[in-house]
Amino acid sequence: MSFTLLRRILTKHKNNISFFKFGKCVRHCQISFLSDAVSFTDRTHTCGSLTGSNVGEKVKLCGWVQYNRGGKFIVIRDWSGITQVIVPTEKVEVQEIVQSLTFESVIEVTGKVLPRPEEEVNPAMATGDLEIDLEEIQVLNKASESLPIPVYDYHKVSEMMRMEYRYMDIRNKQMQRNLRLRSKMMMKIREFLANIHEFVDVETPTLFRRTPGGAKEFIVPSGQPGKFYSLPQSPQQFKQLLMVGGIDRYFQIARCYRDEGSKPDRQPEFTQLDIEMSFVKREGIIKLIEEMMVYSWPEGEPHIQTPFPHLTYDQAMRLYGSDKPDTRFDMKITDITSRCSDGGVELISNQLKTGNGSVVAIKIRDEKKLFSKKKLEDLKTMALKALNDTQTVVIPVRVIEDGSWQSPIAKHMKANVKDEISNDLDLQTGDLAILAAGQCYKPNEVLGKIRLLFADFLESNGVQVREKNVFNFLWVEDFPLFLPKEDGGEGLESAHHPFTDAHPEDRHMLYTQPEKVRGQHYDLVLNGNEVGGGSIRIHDPDVQKYVLEDVLKEDSSQLQHLLKAFTTGCPPHGGIALGLDRLFAIICGAASIRDVIAFPKTQDGKDPMSKAPATVSQAELDSYHIQIKPKSS
Ligand code: ASP
Repeated sequence: MSFTLLRRILTKHKNNISFFKFGKCVRHCQISFLSDAVSFTDRTHTCGSLTGSNVGEKVKLCGWVQYNRGGKFIVIRDWSGITQVIVPTEKVEVQEIVQSLTFESVIEVTGKVLPRPEEEVNPAMATGDLEIDLEEIQVLNKASESLPIPVYDYHKVSEMMRMEYRYMDIRNKQMQRNLRLRSKMMMKIREFLANIHEFVDVETPTLFRRTPGGAKEFIVPSGQPGKFYSLPQSPQQFKQLLMVGGIDRYFQIARCYRDEGSKPDRQPEFTQLDIEMSFVKREGIIKLIEEMMVYSWPEGEPHIQTPFPHLTYDQAMRLYGSDKPDTRFDMKITDITSRCSDGGVELISNQLKTGNGSVVAIKIRDEKKLFSKKKLEDLKTMALKALNDTQTVVIPVRVIEDGSWQSPIAKHMKANVKDEISNDLDLQTGDLAILAAGQCYKPNEVLGKIRLLFADFLESNGVQVREKNVFNFLWVEDFPLFLPKEDGGEGLESAHHPFTDAHPEDRHMLYTQPEKVRGQHYDLVLNGNEVGGGSIRIHDPDVQKYVLEDVLKEDSSQLQHLLKAFTTGCPPHGGIALGLDRLFAIICGAASIRDVIAFPKTQDGKDPMSKAPATVSQAELDSYHIQIKPKSS
């Protein structure tokens, strides 16, 4: 080995220099370098872990064949990286094996670690200054010549194919990183909750009964005619019952099931970190989660700052038009209602006659003519369609050279009103503003959507809008306890679930004006995504019964067990659940939650690998007293 090369290797791997220097003490060195990742196996190292300190050692690596360059060298791969293995031309039996090696075959190689000749050092590769001089090779499993998908070029493969051959797809660098990061963070979370704070990890049933309200549940037939289990949408009732049972701090990494059809980036089964505590207030849960996040936050990711900011639901809706605002960019909504009641534009003033109307606006500073008239029309249509909104009026305004407005309302709006709005929004030449007029939070929601569409469009045109490499956590609280039914039917439904307690300041209205009551619910938002939610619960059986029967018009007999439990000594309690798939997807920078789940399902709930769900025979169905109805045409 040349002296310069030796020095370079030593400098590169300076943490290990001491071992290298005392290289004579071979046993000591080998034991020290036998990393935990290979203990209990036949390997001495993983494929990405060799360093300059291993030069001269005999090592054994196991992994997949990434390259086979005509019998000259092989590149062996595992999750930790790759290493080049030089194949001696003189060893005929070794040559024979190598010549017939197919990509992705699993091999075991033994040889001595050598420094690479200086001119062959590959600085782009972690082990690029080393190679193994192959002495022995064993093919542990020969891969087929025609593989269904490549591992190296996984990003060129369609997602359907990746899911169909998931066992191969998981070998790729990205999936390995995601699943390992997930596992590490989970362990830290468990450690924080169970070991440091005395939380008890309790498993709750997955065969349960229907829960009134909330998401649609999957049902499971039972052997008793006409009787079905339901898969729980969350362990909500069980965790509350555990509080009654004196398990005052509970957590579970719980599998939950919701039959929500084809909502984008959702899975019919997903994982939740479920937490419940007795004798706690909202502030206690919030502090717990913030401390847990800091404790378990993955090394190497940008730091997170606590305490996380808070917004009330009303503030979030007014400023961002969303209850999960993306605060990585500004473009906030400004209320200009007071300017518009008599502004000369009937389309707008009509919206204000109801008493619930408002006019709001957002602005893009110096839009550089990126938005054509057609593009603006498309974005507006997309936003209104996504919200199923046919009422809100949306009007674009461009500010041209002399500060005047170019807009369908420019001619009709009074000059002083235009000036006031320009002033409120600080409009300058080149700016684009969007005005929206409508009822309640509707115009804010429309602009909230347009705000996100704008950001996406600008970013796809090379304009950086969202701050990069940041994790903006945010608490949203003081949600309404009840909302008008989403399907437009009469009456109210729970904004979250029927177990949330009323805000102490609004409790007096629960029996008189329930629609005005705020709940003790809180959501955790990260970069514009809801990653968790929870509440302080009702623990009084009479209040719970009243909410179920009188406000929500639900059949409370389905919750008799819970109501009864509340009469047997129930501590006040509250909790939260974090959606782990979404949380990890954001931390990993994954395009979809499917990229942090080992075996996900497609948007329509299918598994392309095993082809689940599958048919079963009528004989099997008979034992469940089920008959399939012919498909109606
Ligand atoms: N069970 C609720 C959910 O799954 C969370 C909670 O209230 O703790 O959304």
